[in-house]
Amino acid sequence: MRFPKRPYSRFKTALHLKKALKKDLAFRNGTVIGSMCSAPSRYAVRIFSKYIGKNLGDPGLCPGTAEIEQEAVHMLGSLLGNPDADGVFTTGGTEANFLALLTAIKMTDGTRREIILSDCAHFSFFKAAEMMSLRPITIPHNADYSINVGAAAEKISDRTLALIGIAGTTGTGSVDDIPALGKLAEKHNLYFHVDAAFGGFVLPFLKKAGYPSKPFDFTVDGVSSITIDPHKMGQGLTPGGCILYKSRELADRAAFPVSYLAGGKTKHRTLVGTRSGAAVLANWTQMVCLGEEGYVRIVRKCMDLSVSLARRLDTIDGIRCVKIPEINVVAFRSLKTDPERLSRKLREAGWAVSLFDDYFRIVVMPYVTERTLRRFLKDLKSFTGDSHE
Ligand code: PLP
Repeated sequence: MRFPKRPYSRFKTALHLKKALKKDLAFRNGTVIGSMCSAPSRYAVRIFSKYIGKNLGDPGLCPGTAEIEQEAVHMLGSLLGNPDADGVFTTGGTEANFLALLTAIKMTDGTRREIILSDCAHFSFFKAAEMMSLRPITIPHNADYSINVGAAAEKISDRTLALIGIAGTTGTGSVDDIPALGKLAEKHNLYFHVDAAFGGFVLPFLKKAGYPSKPFDFTVDGVSSITIDPHKMGQGLTPGGCILYKSRELADRAAFPVSYLAGGKTKHRTLVGTRSGAAVLANWTQMVCLGEEGYVRIVRKCMDLSVSLARRLDTIDGIRCVKIPEINVVAFRSLKTDPERLSRKLREAGWAVSLFDDYFRIVVMPYVTERTLRRFLKDLKSFTGDSHE
């Protein structure tokens, strides 16, 4: 398409978009079962639209919005066991993980260039390492897909910049042994970042939802910073990530001074400059409108479905669950049908399921229903040759 000479009419514009977007999958149409993004409430979307022009890249223009951001940050800090935590909203988990590594670099003299992380870590760390000329030292996972802490300990040296722990891996939802990693971090005086981009809005509510939960937050000694994404299980809207640091002092280490903005001298704590204040306001809205009770209800529903899905997957001939789900991420292997072939068939049938190296992943978000999963299981059975119910 060329840049139009004449302006489009609204009718033509709407028609063009409608036609193009017909191809998109919608969260609530019942085929998206492999996305970690949430479908925000209508009310949050309304707040987003109402305050669409707010730009937190120039907080002097919108000090009220900046105050709400601080409220949201402190709410998240208290959720994660440290009301004094400080931080900033980001475009998502990727930016938050970048910022963690940037902060770690700024805490050292620049000679330490290695980060130690699980081979199940999100690719954002590897992207960040490439851009910041860091060397990722990947540690093999245990049978439950958590990092092998002993192997991580062996790799620590005077070149180590940071330790990374994952609280809810992207592929299997596994939670690393954060207390053991925290001990290592303390022993060797290392920066320790926990990526709870997805798990951060699940793990704090698991106990009250009737499921076991592992320690992963600021109550664990040694944790320097945590990624937590409102646009994942926070039920917020995109862009909605957040990085929390254990203290204001640490949060300020990655801050970049800017002199000319509306509020006078200020500091940017993000990678991006101009950023959506409306998204922060909408994500704040989502959190206060749900509260702990709302999240417990959502997590219980997602976990009940996840556990029942895992049980039913295991009954299909040629399908084996990778593990009992720790959070609402269900991973399974295809033992008989070639995974690429199965993936293709599922896509052809309209299912958006992620295929990792040798396993599939379903994310049981709140918009995933029992009816949808029943339809999926039926298709899966027919594609793997096990068609009896
Ligand atoms: N960390 C984890 C554990 C994730 O699962 C993801 C995305 O799925 C990210 C980070 C990156 O988040 P985003 O896509 O919001 O940048």
